[in-house]
Amino acid sequence: MDPETDALNELHRRLSGLRDGRVADYIPQLALADPDDFGIALVSMGGNTYRAGKADSVFTLQSVSKPFVYALALGDLGPRETLRHVGVEPSGNAFNAISLEPGTGRPANPMINAGAIATTALVRADGPAERFGRILACLSAFAGRTLDVDEDVYASEAATGDRNRALAYLMRSAGSLRADPAEAADTYFRQCAVRVTAADLAVMAATLANGGRNPVTGVRVVAEPDAVRTLAVMATCGMYDGAGQWLLDVGLPAKSGVSGGLIAASPGRFGVAVHSPPLDASGKPVRAVAALGEMAERFGLHIMHNSGLHAATVTGAERVEREGRTVGVVTAQGRLEFTETEALLYALRDLTPPPLGRLVLDLTAVSTVLPGAATALAAVLADLVAQGHRVAVAARLTFEAVGEERPRTWQVFGTREAALTWAAGADGA
Ligand code: GLN
Repeated sequence: MDPETDALNELHRRLSGLRDGRVADYIPQLALADPDDFGIALVSMGGNTYRAGKADSVFTLQSVSKPFVYALALGDLGPRETLRHVGVEPSGNAFNAISLEPGTGRPANPMINAGAIATTALVRADGPAERFGRILACLSAFAGRTLDVDEDVYASEAATGDRNRALAYLMRSAGSLRADPAEAADTYFRQCAVRVTAADLAVMAATLANGGRNPVTGVRVVAEPDAVRTLAVMATCGMYDGAGQWLLDVGLPAKSGVSGGLIAASPGRFGVAVHSPPLDASGKPVRAVAALGEMAERFGLHIMHNSGLHAATVTGAERVEREGRTVGVVTAQGRLEFTETEALLYALRDLTPPPLGRLVLDLTAVSTVLPGAATALAAVLADLVAQGHRVAVAARLTFEAVGEERPRTWQVFGTREAALTWAAGADGA
């Protein structure tokens, strides 16, 4: 097991006990969801996937489909023409509100239902079948595998979705809907009923975080500016009437859905997805909100915080000869957050000499180690020592791991020189 998975497992274990919220039942088929289903998945820009819990449980996309279809429409029409039909202002209203601009009937943004239905109607096609075909192909490319529709959920929403149909007709009467209202609502219901897993959603979110290129398949799904625009609209509107508080607390572009899915994207770092059906009063999955809040804090993910992304973290990974013995030395600098720590751990893994060896991790130029990074580091160092390696850390700061307490088994020195000397010393010394 790797430390990223350990961290997700620990979070999953703790939040499994959270029993607040209610499974959505206004779409009758959604009420059948198991409230104990709970999965977390994370995909890094290197295309690595980490998961905890039931990350392979299948559920329907619902509103999590909205940002991806918006990105598709942006590609079809361009931002200017798209903006003529769908606004980009947070509505401050619930997801199913009648948030239409007086006069034009233009919906406030593509993340509320009205705006999403209008967006679906923008997708270029010769008819409904082709339109949905293009939407499904786009969602599949984001996920990196062929997705399909849950016909029961689709039928259930089609049978009960009068409010959404009414929104479509209102927009049509105001002149802001480009397609037939019944068809637009139907295509929207189908898009909401596309089946995914938390693992799929993490790849989809990571594709947005990666500027529109799927980090697992390498396929470019949407143009980079359209991925950026979509993330911006997710940041301001993705969490509906809770968008302001979400941006303040978590600070990541995100989108939730009534089946319990939630995605968040950390630009240039990773996509994360949580699935847990019980929702809070405003329709957000309770465990997912808690999970993202904790992850953002531990890994310093807030987009407003200056992470110094452009400085390399791992500045050296080399084998040094000392006293006739070989010591692997990994050197890092700056601030250790999620991506940086992942790179550091890979460098350590690659350098670890088989079967047993001597290792120095030189962190003397590291200024900060965030709690999530410290936990991951501590776990890897403890494993290396447990395997019999002689491990020394050179650091000016102490870092505190969070979660389970483990005794420190590796040596710590104030300077690289002292760490090297000890690591090259005779066993038992
Ligand atoms: N299909 C759902 C609806 O339109 C999606 C809503 C959501 O996930 N917030 O009501």
